Amino acid sequence: AVMVGRTVRRRSGWRRVLRVLEELEEGCATPVGRLRQVVDAMAVEMHAGLASEGGSKLKMLLTFIHNLPTGNEKGIYYALDLGGTNFRVLRVKLGGERSSITELDVDRKPIPQHLMTSTTEELFDFIATSLKDFVEKEENVPEPSQGERRELGFTFSFPFKQISSSSGTLIKWTKGFSIEDMVGRDVSQCLQEAMSRKGLDMRVTALINDTVGTLALGHYHDEDTVAAVIIGTGTNACYLERADAIIKCQGLLTTSGSMVVNMEWGNFWSSHLPRTSYDVDLDADSPNPNDQGFEKMISGMYLGDIVRRVILRMSLESDVFGLISSKLHVPFILRTPMIAAMHEDDSPNLEEVGRILQDTLEISEVPLNVRKLVVKVCDVVTCRAARLAAAGIVGILKKIGRDGSGGITNAKSKGGGSMKMKRTVVAVEGGLYTNYTMFREYLNEAMVQILGDDVASHVIIKATEDGSGIGASLLAASHSASSSSTSS
Ligand code: BGC
Ligand code: MG
Repeated sequence: AVMVGRTVRRRSGWRRVLRVLEELEEGCATPVGRLRQVVDAMAVEMHAGLASEGGSKLKMLLTFIHNLPTGNEKGIYYALDLGGTNFRVLRVKLGGERSSITELDVDRKPIPQHLMTSTTEELFDFIATSLKDFVEKEENVPEPSQGERRELGFTFSFPFKQISSSSGTLIKWTKGFSIEDMVGRDVSQCLQEAMSRKGLDMRVTALINDTVGTLALGHYHDEDTVAAVIIGTGTNACYLERADAIIKCQGLLTTSGSMVVNMEWGNFWSSHLPRTSYDVDLDADSPNPNDQGFEKMISGMYLGDIVRRVILRMSLESDVFGLISSKLHVPFILRTPMIAAMHEDDSPNLEEVGRILQDTLEISEVPLNVRKLVVKVCDVVTCRAARLAAAGIVGILKKIGRDGSGGITNAKSKGGGSMKMKRTVVAVEGGLYTNYTMFREYLNEAMVQILGDDVASHVIIKATEDGSGIGASLLAASHSASSSSTSS
């Protein structure tokens, strides 16, 4: 049976493979009209998520951050960054004026795989121990004086529900983490408890999502920054919203005219999203089916696995990849940095593509036309991801009336024609945007296509660096118990 199958596969191989590619291209197509539908859907869902609790798949989480850092922040603060893959501790000195940030010390380590699925205590004991080691090896840092404590900004890159800017309960895990006993528990309290188990005295003054740290850092450098986006292992966005537009908590908000809203856009869904059978299968095989649908089409954790699934399908339908490599059945074996490396291989014989297929998938002696095919698959998958992310960004701009159209709730410009638009900056971080040139170019190109040249020239996508670390320390400072800096 195997022999027969192989003969059949061989005979019409190339033609079948091209059909698979064609179907993929059709399934992933994002013409600008479709992107505009995604933009509209995003803006509509944002409204719904702000209107009532559970009103949309977009959670639109309140952060209780009313003011972004101004530049007056001063002192030494700590930051803790627990994200998708790495864990970091930082000590940062803020000088009291803009561009006077000094990163004094940093400790980074990968999160041990087994801790991602262990227990709350194990995970937080690991964090608290790392923090304690970090503090104990400090040199030339004066001990906090009587009655004062070291203050910490904690970046926790998962969805959590806040009732203050320094605490919040975990809603669910994403990005492959799964520690069931943690869901519903207060993140800051878990850390505080672990710290006291380890005999470390520190105070969490700000608990933030990584997007919020990025917005804080972006705004610190450029006051026109209104939103922040992360496109890394996972994807998400936050932005500054008018308090009176946050219908679901009216009455609660008294102190300020605005609040940062953590959208958790990774969970966005719309029937306008171009979904393929590969996406359906990836979702079904994931630990969180029916969840994080937008994220599964865009972020670094998943892109490589979509490509793997396409190559597997091609390999099942033909023999252009030789025998079916068992590696093709291994989930997540093809990581997104490999996709980037293959996609951006500019050697005439696509040596890098050949090397990755060989080393990772154990597919050898792949002829040039098949290597080109692999590059094309990477291109289609990445292009869709980048363009959807762009549509998401424009959705936010539309919601806050910065897309040049006047927005849904804002008054239209009088003349109707070219209205004066404010300079609008969106801070972006994450490996896909920062390290993957083709992704970045596709995203930027789609922004211009959706917005048009005129409006797009007022919108600046700015890569920031280390919002999860520096941004957290800035917010720790502006929410400090002892700080004299009054942000306004
Ligand atoms: C999480 C978000 C986070 C994003 C980027 C997503 O999986 O749900 O909270 O901001 O990843 O790290
Ligand atoms: Mg991170």
